[in-house]
Amino acid sequence: MSRSAHPAGPRHADVLPEGHPSAPPADLNALDRKVWASTVTRTPDGVVTVGGVEVTTLAEEFGTPAYLLDETDFRERARAWRTAFGPDADVFYAGKAFLSRAVVRWLHDEGLNLDVCSGGELTTALSAGMPADRIAFHGNNKSVEEIEAAVRAGVGRIVLDSFQEIVRVAHIAGSLGKRQRVQIRITVGVEAHTHEFIATAHEDQKFGIPLAGGQAAEAVRRALQLDGLDVVGIHSHIGSQIFDMSGFEVAAHRVVGLLKDIRDEHGVELPEIDLGGGLGIAYTSDDDPREPHEIAKALNEIVSRECERAQLSTPRISVEPGRAIVGPTAFTLYEVGTIKPLENLRTYVSVDGGMSDNIRTALYDAEYSVALVSRTSEAAPMLVRVVGKHCESGDIVVKDAFLPADLAPGDLIAVPATGAYCRSMASNYNHALRPPVVAVRDGEARVIVRRETEEDLLRLDVG
Ligand SMILES: *Cc1c(COP(=O)(O)O)cnc(C)c1O
Repeated sequence: MSRSAHPAGPRHADVLPEGHPSAPPADLNALDRKVWASTVTRTPDGVVTVGGVEVTTLAEEFGTPAYLLDETDFRERARAWRTAFGPDADVFYAGKAFLSRAVVRWLHDEGLNLDVCSGGELTTALSAGMPADRIAFHGNNKSVEEIEAAVRAGVGRIVLDSFQEIVRVAHIAGSLGKRQRVQIRITVGVEAHTHEFIATAHEDQKFGIPLAGGQAAEAVRRALQLDGLDVVGIHSHIGSQIFDMSGFEVAAHRVVGLLKDIRDEHGVELPEIDLGGGLGIAYTSDDDPREPHEIAKALNEIVSRECERAQLSTPRISVEPGRAIVGPTAFTLYEVGTIKPLENLRTYVSVDGGMSDNIRTALYDAEYSVALVSRTSEAAPMLVRVVGKHCESGDIVVKDAFLPADLAPGDLIAVPATGAYCRSMASNYNHALRPPVVAVRDGEARVIVRRETEEDLLRLDVG
C-alpha cells in the first residue's frame, strides 16, 4: 500500500498527544529485548519466533488472538528472583497476575511460593500440587468458606486484613483445632507507582490496617491474645509498576518501627516481614526496570539497616512479585482485520481481540508497544492506535505506536509484555471467547489454558 493510502501515517507530528513517542523507532522491524520475552527473535525470512516456533505456525495451529507464553523465560525469571533472595528469604509469586496449573508446577519446580487471593486461586494451586505450607492467602474480604478451606488445607500463612478477620480466622482455626500462622497487613502511608511515591499520614484505601493512629498496633495486640493465631509477621504492599526503591525504604522504616513497638510492648520479636510486590517491568522501550538481584540487594540493605537501628534481629524477608515474573514472558498475537486511516489524526488498526483480553489500557491508561510479526517491512512508519472489536470506543489496546504503512488485513501483530493482568483480567464482554494461553518451549507449543468456546458460554446460560 502506498503512503497516500494512509494519509495519517506521515502526519503524526501534528497530533501526538503529550508524553508519547515523538518519533518512530529507527527500525520498525527491530525487537527491543527489554519488552519481548527472552527467546523471541526474528528468523532471516522475517517471521518472529518464540521458543523456536514461528508465530505464523502458532496462529495456524491455535488461532488468534492468543497469549503466547515463553516458558523458558518464565522459569528463568522465577529462578532469578529465587536466587537473588537466597535461602534466607521467600519469594511468593502473586497468582493474581496469571495463574494456571502449569504455572503452579513451574513455580514449584523453581522453588517459589505462591500468593492466592480467592478460593478459586487456592483450588488451582492445590490441585497442581503446590504444598499448602508454601501458599499465602490474601484478600480484604475472604469469605468464611475461603478461610475454612485455607485453614483446613494448612496454608503457610493467612494475611489478615481487618479487625473482623482477626477474630474470624482465630475462630475458624480454633474450631478446627488448629493454630493458623498469620501476618497482619498494614498500610504504612506510602503509595508507590513507577517513578514516584507519595507518603501520607493516612491511608485512603480498602487494603490493610492503618499504621496511623495506632490501629495496626491495636490489631497486633488483639491478634496476639487469640489462641487460634500464630502471629508471625507484618505485611506491607505499597503499589504497582514501581521502579524507584525509595518508597520501599520509607515502608520498611515504618514496618520495622512497628516491629520495635511490638517488641517493646509485648516482648516478642515477630520473625517475618513481607514487603509485597509491585516491581515494575518494561512495557515500552522507555521503561527501565531493575534486575531481581539489584532489588534483593536494596531491600536486604534497607531492612538490615532499619533493624540495626532499632536493635532488632533481622526478620526473614519475603516479597511477592507477580508482574515482574510473568509480565514480560508473554505477548498477545492478533490478526489485523480492518485499517482505518483518519486524515490528520492517526490510523486505527482493528484486531480480533481487544479490551476483553487486555483491559489494562482502558482501565489504567497503560502503555504498550506493538510490532508486525508475520513479516518484516521497509515501508514508512505510520502512527497507529490498535483497537479491539468491542462495542465501546474506549476499547483500545495500544494508544499510540508506529507500524509500517503497508500494514494489511491478515498481517499478524503482537503486543509484548501481556503476561500479567491480561488473561487474568480477561472478560466475556460482547460474549467474546477468552483467548488461550499457549506455552512455548524448545520448539514445542502446548495449550495450558484453552480457548473458550461458544459451548462454554452457553453452559452458564441456564435460563
Ligand atoms: C497485587 C499484589 C502483588 C503483586 O503485584 P505485582 O505488581 O504484580 O508485583 C503482591 N502482593 C499483594 C498483596 C498484591 O496485592
